[in-house]
Amino acid sequence: MASARKNLIGLPRAELEAWFASFGEKPFRARQLMRWLYERSELRWEAMTNLSLPLRQRLEAEASLDLPTVGVRQQSSDGTVKWSLDVGRAQLIEMVFIPEERRGTLCVSSQVGCAMDCPFCATGRQGFNRNLTAAEIVGQVLLATRELGLVNGASRVTNIVFMGMGEPLANFREVTRACDVLTDDFGFGLSRRRVTVSTSGLVPQIDRLAKVSNVALAISLHAAHDELRDELVPINRKHPIKELLSACWEYASATNSKQITFEYIMLDGINDSPAEARRLVDLLRGHPAKVNLIPFNPVAGTGYNRTPQQRVDAFRKVLMDSGIVTVTRRPRGDDIDAACGQLAGSLDNLVRVPMSEKTMHTVNRV
Ligand code: SAH
Ligand code: SF4
Repeated sequence: MASARKNLIGLPRAELEAWFASFGEKPFRARQLMRWLYERSELRWEAMTNLSLPLRQRLEAEASLDLPTVGVRQQSSDGTVKWSLDVGRAQLIEMVFIPEERRGTLCVSSQVGCAMDCPFCATGRQGFNRNLTAAEIVGQVLLATRELGLVNGASRVTNIVFMGMGEPLANFREVTRACDVLTDDFGFGLSRRRVTVSTSGLVPQIDRLAKVSNVALAISLHAAHDELRDELVPINRKHPIKELLSACWEYASATNSKQITFEYIMLDGINDSPAEARRLVDLLRGHPAKVNLIPFNPVAGTGYNRTPQQRVDAFRKVLMDSGIVTVTRRPRGDDIDAACGQLAGSLDNLVRVPMSEKTMHTVNRV
């Protein structure tokens, strides 16, 4: 995939215009190219007929349109599609498409691995390898758009969530450049509400994000008091709940957002009691907050288990009775190991743990 030519995928419009200007081309060339790439998913220079032949020849010589390479594509019985992608040097990442009635959500990765070390998460257990580039992030979306044409009955990508591998705000520059392309009218043209950055709680970066972007924000809260959150989401030791929540409310007001989404994994006997639900109410009531209760997807060796449905319902009732909108997520793609937190795709990891064994441990077979 590596190439001496400049990869133009994922370049924000202003940067692409500057690149064209550097060899005397007008800014509208950037817009023309972006339309070919993101509206028509066209990667062949020769098909871009509104660019002159000499310009196309020059582009061919000096630029490239590189996407990650598809390793494996798997489709779940529930329609979820998971791709493992090769991003060079034996590094694999994963992305997942989740079709629903009125939308199609693509879950993208922002890093190879993750350094945040949350003890329940397959990606966290694999450790950190490197940040992805904006080209590799936007490349995932472009690739999915092209690939979905090949999958029977699959719908389009209407929403993007940064809930694949990695902590997006630890890769601030590349993630925000990618968001720029996703929300640009000449890029994928997605409304900012349809692009969600999910974070474990990097407070300074939340503040910075409000200054450069206004995409939707999701917080992986998972606990309603610091002692427990210190354990479940170790970054909490640095940025405790109070500090995190005040950054959230500021983000909502600075970006004029309707609400922040709080993700809460239900871990059997750990964070799922009615008392914890009431603590959560105390934190969120009166603020622009919505809660997603996530069924835990078992990861081998973590010692955590999934909360039984009855207790999830009771927890949700406490929140709903207090006026907090709360959605219980359905697990998707369990049978292909594509549910949240089951993404662990580095080749290192596969070498250490043979595939059959890994699958046996991490697939949730309920
Ligand atoms: N690093 C970011 C985004 C990627 S993780 C973050 O933590 O927000 C995406 C979501 O999957 C997070 O809410 C994360 O807590 C959740 N997750 C991780 N492991 C999981 C598991 N085993 N079961 C269910 N959800 C999990
Ligand atoms: Fe990283 Fe998110 Fe997993 Fe925590 S839950 S280890 S932040 S990917």
